[in-house]
Amino acid sequence: MSSDEVFDIVIIGAGIAGLSAAIYSCRLGLKTLIVSVDVGGQLLYAGPIENYPGLEVGSGYDLVFRIRNQATSFGANIVIDEVVELVKDGDVFTVRTKGGQVFKSLSVIAACGKAPKRLGVDGEERFVGRGLSYCVICDSHFFRGKKVVLVSFGVRGAESLQILAPIAAEVHYVTPTEIDESLDVARKYGNVHIHPGYRVVGISGGGVLKVILTNAGGITKELEVNGVFAELGFETRIDFLRKYVDVNESGEVVVGRHCETRVEGLYAAGDLIDVPYKQAVIAAATGAIAALSAVNYVNKVRGLSKGFRADWGKKVSTARRKTFRL
Ligand SMILES: Cc1cc2nc3c(=O)[nH]c(=O)nc-3n(C[C@H](O)[C@H](O)[C@H](O)COP(=O)(O)OP(=O)(O)OC[C@H]3O[C@@H](n4cnc5c(N)ncnc54)[C@H](O)[C@@H]3O)c2cc1C
Repeated sequence: MSSDEVFDIVIIGAGIAGLSAAIYSCRLGLKTLIVSVDVGGQLLYAGPIENYPGLEVGSGYDLVFRIRNQATSFGANIVIDEVVELVKDGDVFTVRTKGGQVFKSLSVIAACGKAPKRLGVDGEERFVGRGLSYCVICDSHFFRGKKVVLVSFGVRGAESLQILAPIAAEVHYVTPTEIDESLDVARKYGNVHIHPGYRVVGISGGGVLKVILTNAGGITKELEVNGVFAELGFETRIDFLRKYVDVNESGEVVVGRHCETRVEGLYAAGDLIDVPYKQAVIAAATGAIAALSAVNYVNKVRGLSKGFRADWGKKVSTARRKTFRL
C-alpha cells in the first residue's frame, strides 16, 4: 500500500460489525481497508452461537471467520494495528496507528466495539495471555487444578465463580464491597477464599504470579497464584474519536438512523453505537447500514452519483397501486 493511496473507506475494527460493513462496501466496488487490533473482536470470547439467524456455529470464532473470509473474498484488506489518531482535513481523513502507519480515506467507519475493562495496575499488558485473562468462560480450563485470583462483582462475579470454582483448586475472590450477591455464591464453595473490600494494586512475577491486594484501611495482602481473572465488564475505548463524535452517558457513540456521526463521512456501527441490545446480528446489521451510507457519501464526493437507495423509497399512491395491481 503506498502512502499516497486514498481509500474510499477505512473501517476501524474487524469485529462482526466492521467485517460486515466491508462485505457491503467491497461488493459495491469501493476500495476498503480494515485496520484492527485483532480479527474477531468479542466473538473470539464467545462459545457456541445459537441465535445468529440461518447459521448454527460451534463458536463465535467460527462465525466471525466465515464473515472474515467473505469480506476478504470480495477484496477487503485487513491490517493488524491499533488506531490512535483520526484527523479530517477537507474531504480526506487521516488515520494513524500505534505502529506508525498512516492511511488516508474519503470516509471512515468506526466499528471498534467494546473491550474488557482493565484492572489498571502497572505493567498489566505484560501479563495478558501470560496468566492474566479477562474471560473466565474462555480460559478457565487452562487453570484446572490451579490456584487463581478472580476479580469481579455482582451477577458477573457469581457466574464466574460458578464456572471457576469447580475447575480450579483454589479461588481467591477479590470484590470491591462487603455486601454483594456474588458473596453468597462464593460461600457455597469450600475452595473459594473471599477478600471483600479489597482491590488488586499490583501483579509481578512470571509462572507463579504475585498479586498485591489492598483495602480502604490500607491493609495489604500478597497472594501467590498461577492465574488472575479480571471479569469487570466491558468499556468503549474511543479517545481518538472523541473530538468528532457525541458520546452518551453509557459511553456509546451517538449516531443517526444512517449510522452517521456529526462529521460528514464518519460513520459508526456495532456495539460502539447507541443502539440497544448488544448482539452479533445487530452489530452486523448496523455495519451494513454504515457501509451503505459511506458508499453513498463517497460516490457523492467523487461526483459519481447522488447515491442509491436500498430502501422502500417513496410511498406509492393508492391510485397508482390500483393501476399497477401492486
Ligand atoms: C462472551 C461473549 C459471548 C457472546 N455471545 C453472544 C451470542 O451468543 N450471540 C450474540 O448475538 N452475541 C453475543 N455476544 C455479543 C457479540 O459478541 C457482540 O455484540 C459483537 O461481537 C459486537 O461486534 P462489534 O464488531 O460491534 O464489536 P467487537 O466484537 O467488540 O469488535 C471490535 C473490533 O475493533 C477492534 N478495535 C477496537 N479498538 C480499536 C482501535 N483503536 N484500533 C483498531 N481496532 C480496534 C477490536 O480489536 C475488535 O476487533 C457475546 C459477547 C461476549 C463477550
